[in-house]
Amino acid sequence: MGFDYRTITPERVATLTDEAIAAADLLLANAATASPTSFEGTVQPIDDADALVYAASGRGAFMARVHPEAAVRDAGQAAETRIRTWQAALPGREDLARAVRAYAETDAARELTGQQRRLLDHLLRDFRRAGQDLPAEQRAEAGRLRSRIVELEVAFQRNIDEWQDGLDLTREELDGLPEDYVGRLAPGATDGTYRVTLAYPDYYPFLENARRRDLRQELERRFFNRALTSNRPVIAELLGLRRQLAHVLGYASWADYAVEIKMAGTPDRVWDFLNELIPPLADKTDREIETMSALLASDTGDTQFRSWDWRYYDSQLLRNEFSVDQDAVAEYFPLDAVLDGLFGLSGEVFGLEYRELPEPTAWHPDVRLFEVLDRPTGRLLGTFYVDLFPREGKFGHAMAWPITLPRRAADGSQRGEELPEAAIVANIPPPTTGAPSLVQHSDVEMLFHEFGHILHEIVSQAHFARFSIFQVEPDFEEAPSQIMQHWTWQPSVLRQFARHYRTREPIPEDLVDRLVAARDLNVGLKTLFRLCRLSVLDLELHTGDGPDRIDEIHRETFGVTRLPFHEGTFDLAAFGHIASGYDAGYYGYIWSKVYGDDMWSRFEREGITDPAVGGSYRREILEPSASLDADEMLRRFLGREPSNATFLKLLGLVPA
Ligand SMILES: [Zn+2]
Repeated sequence: MGFDYRTITPERVATLTDEAIAAADLLLANAATASPTSFEGTVQPIDDADALVYAASGRGAFMARVHPEAAVRDAGQAAETRIRTWQAALPGREDLARAVRAYAETDAARELTGQQRRLLDHLLRDFRRAGQDLPAEQRAEAGRLRSRIVELEVAFQRNIDEWQDGLDLTREELDGLPEDYVGRLAPGATDGTYRVTLAYPDYYPFLENARRRDLRQELERRFFNRALTSNRPVIAELLGLRRQLAHVLGYASWADYAVEIKMAGTPDRVWDFLNELIPPLADKTDREIETMSALLASDTGDTQFRSWDWRYYDSQLLRNEFSVDQDAVAEYFPLDAVLDGLFGLSGEVFGLEYRELPEPTAWHPDVRLFEVLDRPTGRLLGTFYVDLFPREGKFGHAMAWPITLPRRAADGSQRGEELPEAAIVANIPPPTTGAPSLVQHSDVEMLFHEFGHILHEIVSQAHFARFSIFQVEPDFEEAPSQIMQHWTWQPSVLRQFARHYRTREPIPEDLVDRLVAARDLNVGLKTLFRLCRLSVLDLELHTGDGPDRIDEIHRETFGVTRLPFHEGTFDLAAFGHIASGYDAGYYGYIWSKVYGDDMWSRFEREGITDPAVGGSYRREILEPSASLDADEMLRRFLGREPSNATFLKLLGLVPA
């Protein structure tokens, strides 16, 4: 039976966090003073400490996202801050670095192989990246730069969060917006007006539906200028300091520093990737813009299609020519059938078995608990919680959260007491009196995606906590969940479980075709507008003299969208990713999508539910987790060099 979350209190969250950190610190102190140094005495305790703190995070900090009581959530938040601080400080510990480097010089260390070798190398890399190889003076400078960078990153996010702007509009000016949207708006400052803020639920529907083109332009201008005055100086200082820190640490640029530990490895490889990908997307986008320009011209007589037009005409096309009633689709996806489909399919393809446990002792009575077993051997691999219905105070989006991490012995059994545990947290409509919980297709896709992360964690055969999914290269970690998403668009797969909740009729094939067509509408522009443009922008700013040419780069890279620049705007000021860990890493979204699709190509070729491909995928991609470089895993699974051909083919394009 799992951990008893029913007994969690704010005090318990605090004490279990304190206890784990104290125990971890003791392990680290022992590692730092072990004499003589050895793998078991010097390196292993660092991984043990990591695992302990991760587990405490799953018991305590995780409660911030899901616990029904506000006081427990607050305690979870405080625990998360403590744990993050502890984790961030680890590579800066000089005593530890000294001990590990002394060990690395021994003959025993030189003879290490496999995951032990890799763990040692990764620790040495962490210490080097933290500046521990530098003379004292430079190390101190790196420390000062880093603290200032963290301050600026926090300020950057806060400035975005605190920025308030919008438009007060009359009912007439809201022409085109649906009644329920207008009903949700707060009153404006003057009588008879409505406040349209820049929050996503206000902004996007406005750009998609407002007939008044001048107002779409004005709202986009304000949206693009969020946090402009407060963040313009912050971004300049931040980019400059990152460049300086990269130089102190011996890197040519911040991009070189950031990409070093990712699958791409070097910025050059990312540039090659983007330069191959963008031209075919640009061709497709030009055709999409042509179609929408014709609609604009017939509405307004103007042929100059602009950035504030595309969401409007995209949504017109969607409504008029690709109309899909998503609620009607959801009637084919009652929740139990979706879960049965997900478990049945992934069980068959990956050789797994799932068993629901009664009385899961979870944080809320709605939460269910399942075991994952290896089908051929019956071995228990781990467990996962499923928490799907909205509640007050619960995390509002969807995520997979690893609770305790896998650390397998050489024979595949778990080291230590606890098997890996994970949780899938989402918000789908609960059952009503007349109907079961009916899942929108986008949520079916989301559940498959998040479940991909759960499997990636639980089937892992990595020997160390360090090589759990947390440490899969960030530009690859989403790729395994892509495979899962693909299944939700395949008529042959959907037919197996998507049945109307009343008639039991399987989902009609033409309905799936229409779903696919709607998904692919204007996908060129949608991919370029954010994913590709911001990847290029982010990378350029962190390369060479990027920090000195911010305005020029911001303006020029807008060209990636194939639309004219919106004069007088600077949306870099509200590009939160650049200050929240995605710096010189935003490209990872499109990178992992492309290579996720690349892996899917083997399923397409050999059978989309073929257990032989599934078995190979489990062995080559899921089980190694982070114990191998993603590049190597991908080549092994594909049996060739990675390619963007499948990604482009799925969009109806041929590679450049
Ligand atoms: Zn994901």
